Amino acid sequence: MLKQNFKCPICAKHIFRIENDLEVCPVCGYENRTAQNASYDNHAQAEFPVRSFRAEYFNRRKEDDE
Ligand SMILES: [Zn+2]
Repeated sequence: MLKQNFKCPICAKHIFRIENDLEVCPVCGYENRTAQNASYDNHAQAEFPVRSFRAEYFNRRKEDDE
């Protein structure tokens, strides 16, 4: 079952209406795409892009503050 009305996993500021609709977050640029829909073989690999994207997002925010 698809999640509905859930926060962006990266910035937690945008609310996506439904999981995996490929909407791009207007705050951080994350694409709303679930692991099931991506071509990853296991969960650990599927999680990695979110983690690296989140790290990049916070790095960019840090730079913006300076
Ligand atoms: Zn976001």
